[in-house]
Amino acid sequence: MSAGAKDRTSVIERSHAALQDDFLRAAVRFTTDRLKDRKHGATEELGRWEEWRERGREIRAHTVSHLDYYLRRFVDNARAAGAEIHFASDAQEASAAVLGVVHAKQAQLVAKSKSMVSEEIHINRRLEEQNVRVVETDLGEYIIQLANEMPSHIIIPAIHKTREQIKDLFTRDGGQNLGTDTKALVTFARRKLRETFLTADIGMTGCNFGVAESGSVVLFTNEGNADMVSALPKTHIVVMGMERVLPTFADLEVMANLLPRSATGQKVITYMSVITGPRRAQERCGPEELHIVILDNGRSSQLGDDEFRDVLHCIRCGACLNVCPVYRHIGGHAYGSVYPGPIGAVLTPLLLQGEEFADLPNASSLCGACYEACPVKIPLHDMLVALRRRAAGGPRTKRAERAAWRGYALAFAKPGRYRLVTRMARLAQTPLQHDGYIESTWGPLMGWTNSRHAPALAPESFRDRFSRMKQDVRTIKSDPQ
Ligand code: SF4
Repeated sequence: MSAGAKDRTSVIERSHAALQDDFLRAAVRFTTDRLKDRKHGATEELGRWEEWRERGREIRAHTVSHLDYYLRRFVDNARAAGAEIHFASDAQEASAAVLGVVHAKQAQLVAKSKSMVSEEIHINRRLEEQNVRVVETDLGEYIIQLANEMPSHIIIPAIHKTREQIKDLFTRDGGQNLGTDTKALVTFARRKLRETFLTADIGMTGCNFGVAESGSVVLFTNEGNADMVSALPKTHIVVMGMERVLPTFADLEVMANLLPRSATGQKVITYMSVITGPRRAQERCGPEELHIVILDNGRSSQLGDDEFRDVLHCIRCGACLNVCPVYRHIGGHAYGSVYPGPIGAVLTPLLLQGEEFADLPNASSLCGACYEACPVKIPLHDMLVALRRRAAGGPRTKRAERAAWRGYALAFAKPGRYRLVTRMARLAQTPLQHDGYIESTWGPLMGWTNSRHAPALAPESFRDRFSRMKQDVRTIKSDPQ
């Protein structure tokens, strides 16, 4: 799916298209399997993983339930360290804050490091509309920027790209045929990105965590590009979701154990940068100005909602994607949103209220694997059910479906009705029955039976069988011979 394009298709239609792409399915499965295996090894090595998860949950729950206090502390300390703070209630305000800085600096080139929140506000498109060049400096993001696509995984944005496709993109960008040798491709990207680091007017990053006790912004990367982006240009803009705060560095230590292990199975992240204010007089590198844009964009609505508040605990590790049977089949673009996978199926309809993404919670088997994988124990499966309940009253639910569920509720409300309906169903299933299973080649049942075993109703209900057996026992007792 192209970046910034509005897709009007449903999640089912997009999933059907994704299922036709054999490479996508194989690549997603291969990579997510590797990530899962590596995570397993890294958590085993750490030991007492469940206790770490519980501690992570406690920290995030405490912070989010006192977010006003910790955010204020973070802002006060960041200001005291010399950062300029911009509050943005939505994507438009966040973009305006970024553009304000870009115009003030008369910037022509912005170097960006990977950031989901900046994808959320579509900042690249906004900057390009103002004739400002933006270059993504994370290798995966650089690839999908050249392809004009959205990331298809939170951690590995170009998970769906073949080496051949990457070669074509780099060849088009560089104007020379590079071949498919990995070393040549990486050398090309390194040279291009190095130029960007050295010539960018502004560096833009996200924020993995903001530490309230010092007002520091913490960045995790494996390529070191965020360090270049935040240290070399004269101005650094950070875009952070308002929930990304942690109270103390002791809490950061817990997250520094949970996040890389859950995301990529690493014991430690390769580069962890802690940025407290802009460069001081005695320092040799760092930006002269640090701007922090703090984004709400629907998050504060979840704060007062007991059903969905926990979604703000998310630390964007991507572990729930790697275990999700739906994501592993359809990849990220089928979700049609910036955030894919189980977290995207919950977060997107909550952040962008309305009908556009109301069908996303259906992209789940409700197996609960996402909860088991989540390092901060977010009950995504419960939220998916709650979102489906909300969507059921919306205009996307067809009249026939509503009528069917109403009929179901009526039939199951009284034992007599239930018995009558199951007897009728037993008769109705006869033409569709084959070897104890329902097989339908037409009608709404087909969507279910095409890919699943649907056992037929037993010839005799449990109640009928029980009454018959009771009767048999009575007969035997009254006539032991
Ligand atoms: S919901 Fe949990 S597993 Fe999924 S990205 Fe967020 S923190 Fe990671």
